[in-house]
This record gives sequence, structure tokens and C-alpha cells, in this order.
Amino acid sequence: MLAASQMTGHLRDMIDLLGRRITYLRFSVTDRCDLRCLYCLGDEVEFLPKPQTLNLEEIDRLCAAFIRLGVRKLRLTGGEPLVRRGIMGLLENLGRHVAAGALDELTLTTNGTQLARFADGLRAAGMRRINVSLDTLSPATFRRITARGDLGRIIDGILAARQAGLAVKINMVALNGINDGEIDGMIRWCGGLGFDLSLIETMPLGDVGGTRTHLYLPLDEVRRRLQTRWTLLPCDYRSGGPARYVTVAETGRRLGFITPMSHEFCAGCNRVRVTSDGRLYPCLGREQAVDLRPLIRGQESDRHLEDHIAAAIAAKPPGHLFTFDPQGGGPILERTMNRTGG
Ligand code: SAM
Repeated sequence: MLAASQMTGHLRDMIDLLGRRITYLRFSVTDRCDLRCLYCLGDEVEFLPKPQTLNLEEIDRLCAAFIRLGVRKLRLTGGEPLVRRGIMGLLENLGRHVAAGALDELTLTTNGTQLARFADGLRAAGMRRINVSLDTLSPATFRRITARGDLGRIIDGILAARQAGLAVKINMVALNGINDGEIDGMIRWCGGLGFDLSLIETMPLGDVGGTRTHLYLPLDEVRRRLQTRWTLLPCDYRSGGPARYVTVAETGRRLGFITPMSHEFCAGCNRVRVTSDGRLYPCLGREQAVDLRPLIRGQESDRHLEDHIAAAIAAKPPGHLFTFDPQGGGPILERTMNRTGG
């Protein structure tokens, strides 16, 4: 008789030495982005040389290996995933895993610049929900944060996604002194359009030219302030990540607090990340990685590839190393967020 895992197509589970089951893969399909958010990339960013970047067939093969190993949720990220040439073909191919029942969810995190033209295609590829990063509803502040973005284009993209039948969650990085006065407005806007909203603490990843310490806004404090103006009801919803949710009674929508800095939720972590050059990062907040590209580009069998992935997962670190240096020193991790995709 077949084991349940064989019937759903995967061969074994990825469980690390601490007993955490890995079911969620975030794949950064490119490190390139059409925005330059001040906390993410900075101006002097160096992108990976093209030959180091996995081609779409290689990405597809790697995703399939993870799915055979028990990944049930796959999120494409970046850089900006929708600026990767051929991205829709990749998504259509990956949709086969959803259709076959081997994947519960195929989804995407995007800055929204390309959404107006791709929203219908995303839905057709099997997506039902997407995350859109949007830190402000002010065109001037948007320009200040992203260095080159056009807010109107993003809003058009978000509305196109909604029109295409995609559930949208807005991710807003809380930036001390930049958008902290806009959180009420964002809650209202999201509520009016039927979107959930997550607030994110700034993380000290990568050298973005200057310290980010002054941008860090602990979300405990934000939540305390919000509670004086909104009715925040307890909510059981969990995504397996560092987000904790409440329901805003006035809008009926979920509000998430993603607090990797002020709280640690590593004990329940269910996710790993792969970069566009094929490096598997078992933890976002550590440099430890396994290079899968030589395996994918060599003549290695799928079985051999899976063995390497499983071994890397087994050694997933217990927790991240994020901390802000009170003296305002540099980041403890060199990698910028566009490499691993958040
Ligand atoms: N381009 C896509 C987007 O904008 O959503 C996907 C990649 S982007 C790196 C993913 C998320 O990481 C975005 O929500 C972004 O705001 C967030 N992010 C980037 N750098 C960050 C940092 N240093 N701290 C916290 N969040 C960060």
C-alpha cells in the first residue's frame, strides 16, 4: 500500500533536527528590481552576473524537487519577480503542481509595478492571493522611499489584481519618521478595498549606504497606539511565520504585525529560501547557505539533489541573528533583501 506522502507525490518530509517541518519555499527568481527602496537596496547595488542566475528551467526543476520533498506553499519573490523575463511561462508551468494537488498554494510578493499587465495571467496560472508591498499612499513619500516609483501605477496594478479576482494583502514596512503617521490611513484604505494589511519591522540586512537604526519602529509601540483608535480583536490566523494577526473590528480585515526584531518566532518556522543563483538559505537571518547551482548544472540525479536539500534543511539554524547595533554600526548580514526576497 502507498503511504499518504507517496499518494500526494512527495517522497519524504523535510524535518530539521529541531523537529520543524518545512512546507514553505520562497524562491527569489531575480535579484533585479525596478525600485530602490531606501531600506532594501540603496543606490549602489551590485546585481548578480547573468551567467550565475538560474534559468527558468533550472528554477522549475528546483521547485519540483522541493515539492517532492513536501513543500506545500511556494512564493515567488525577488528583487521584483514580475520584471524577470519569461516569468509568466514559469508561473504557468508551476501551476501544474497546484492542479495536481501537490501544492496547496502558488503565490507571489510584488511591488506592483507590473501588476496591471500580469494580473489576469497570475489568476490563470492558479494564483488566488498575492502580497503587494506598499509603504505609503502619498506620491511624494512613495518617491522618497522608492527613489523612482510612480504611486499611481502601483495603485492601478493593485486594482487590476482585485478586478482579476486575486485576494490582495498589503505589506507596509513601518519606517520611523517617514510613514508612521500614515498607518491609520492605510488601515482605512485597505479596509475600504477589502485587503488585509501587514506591518513589518525594518530588518538590518545588507549595506544600503548608511545605518537604518533610526528607521526602526518597534511594532509593539505602534500596536499600543493603534489600540487607542481602533478595536483590535484577537484572531487565530497563523501563516507559520513571524506575523501575528488581529482583526480590525471597524473594517473587518486582518491586520498583521511582522516583528522579527522585537520578538523571535523561530521555534515555529516552516520556511526556507532559495536565491536566483541557486543558494538555499535555511534561515533569512543567517549567512549559512548551501549552493545548489553546481548540482542543478551538473549531471546529478533528482535523488542526489533531494538528498542535498534534505541535508541542508536538517541543519536549519535554531534562530536568526537580527539585532540593531545601538552604536549605529553596519548590518550583521551582508546580503541585501533583494537577494533572498524577504
Ligand atoms: N519586489 C517585491 C516586493 O517589493 O514585494 C519582492 C521583494 S521585496 C525584497 C520583499 C519585501 O521585503 C517587501 O515587502 C519589502 O518591503 C521588504 N523588505 C525589504 N528590505 C527590508 C528590510 N530591510 N526590512 C524589512 N523589510 C524589508
